[in-house]
Amino acid sequence: MTDTPLSLFNSLTRSVEPFSPVHPGEARVYTCGPTVYNYPHIGNMRAYVFADILGRTLSFKGLKLTHIINITDVGHLTDDADDGEDKMEKMAAEKAQSIWDIAQHYTQAYWADVKALNIREPAKWSIATDYIEEMIEFAKGIADKHCYECATGLYFDVTTVEDYGRLARAVTEDGEGRIDTVEGKRNAADFAIWRKTPDGEKRQMEWDSPWGKGAPGWHLECSVMGEKLLGFPFDIHTGGIDHREIHHPNEIAQNQAFCGCGGLSDARNSGANIWMHNNFLVERSGKMSKSSGEFLRLQLLMDKGYHPLAYRMMCLQAHYRSELEFSWEGLEAALTRLKRMVMAAQRLADAPSQPVAEHPKFAASLAKFEAAMNDDLGTPSALTAIEDALAVKKVDAGIKRAVIEHMDSVLGLGLFDLTREALRIRPKDAATDEAAIEDALVRRKAARAEKDFAASDAIRDELVAQGVDVMDGDPLGWEWKLS
Ligand code: AMP
Ligand code: ZN
Repeated sequence: MTDTPLSLFNSLTRSVEPFSPVHPGEARVYTCGPTVYNYPHIGNMRAYVFADILGRTLSFKGLKLTHIINITDVGHLTDDADDGEDKMEKMAAEKAQSIWDIAQHYTQAYWADVKALNIREPAKWSIATDYIEEMIEFAKGIADKHCYECATGLYFDVTTVEDYGRLARAVTEDGEGRIDTVEGKRNAADFAIWRKTPDGEKRQMEWDSPWGKGAPGWHLECSVMGEKLLGFPFDIHTGGIDHREIHHPNEIAQNQAFCGCGGLSDARNSGANIWMHNNFLVERSGKMSKSSGEFLRLQLLMDKGYHPLAYRMMCLQAHYRSELEFSWEGLEAALTRLKRMVMAAQRLADAPSQPVAEHPKFAASLAKFEAAMNDDLGTPSALTAIEDALAVKKVDAGIKRAVIEHMDSVLGLGLFDLTREALRIRPKDAATDEAAIEDALVRRKAARAEKDFAASDAIRDELVAQGVDVMDGDPLGWEWKLS
């Protein structure tokens, strides 16, 4: 996969483009990270599975990857376009805890999900509040030419840069969903880069600045950390598709101002050569909303007995630019598919792995895999390429293992670290004696072999009474799950 070119969809140009690194042999990627005011929902985690696949693919191409994911612990308001309250302040008030404790708790929870989903650690997790000084310096540098002060803060005038809103394909004037209720704002799309603490109020998080005590705007932090840690222009900036509308156009405007750059027909002026966005995970009943009681967190999937990597598989089955609808049936289907692959991989477990050799039996599946990933990260087709390779018969097990490991290093399913048993559906509060279940299944199998169907049915009923669902027709063999 190292010599065929990688093509990626650039949201800025709305076209698939060959990837050509800014610094030869390197890839520098910035991913907008979570706002740590609450647990991430599984939709949020789709954004990081996507960024992880991108990072793994770039590494696989032999590029030295520097990946940054930020942690937003300040500045993100309840509305992306500068309206409402600071999400962190609001949650801290609701929970009567300090913002720092809230940030700590939800950052740890996010990291636990990252780990459970086999998402590789980035080169750095950049924490927004560690960069306040740099944000003030950045804002000072652009304030004279591009910003104006009003009672509530320092605002960025979007008419001072060329092509504002191109990423969103939005029109500057009267941009949809923009907040123009702030007194003194010149254009509806102008946004705060520094929010002053209102007179007589005290915020938990506030810093001194030339524009008074206050806190940075959310868009500012990503511009600053991107520039500090990767340098403009870097290669790729990623985020969920909602960021294409407000957050990223605003970041881009700040970057243009900072660099003194021209318009966006030259992508480099935006601060990154390529802007990539994953589409949403959607769910019809509203469980994706963090305000619903039992919202869809990875932990909920795990409590219901699903291995977290079933969710990774579910993500990979869809192209990152397609909407993906969540359903429990879909998750179970993804789990079954993963289990099949793991069982096939387990048969190779004892084979010593070796470097991937040219082997005619794998030429087609390897070529298919590479073509799929090179074509804007086509994971759905790449998964079928792994399945093709697993199905190859009468071939040295060591070579087969090497081919599968090679492909799995990009998809990150951890096929050789999983077991069929680990993938069994096991709800959290179900009390079971797994050894007794396995023993009953052995007895049942023996009874059936002797055509003693009365005995075999009796054992089945016994198991059903314990909440064990025996899946006779399962092509995976003698399988059971807890219902
Ligand atoms: P936030 O913590 O709100 O900044 O969101 C974290 C990431 O999740 C961002 O990249 C969002 O664009 C992305 N995101 C939010 N909702 C969804 C969803 N339903 N599906 C996929 N990505 C999402
Ligand atoms: Zn961001």
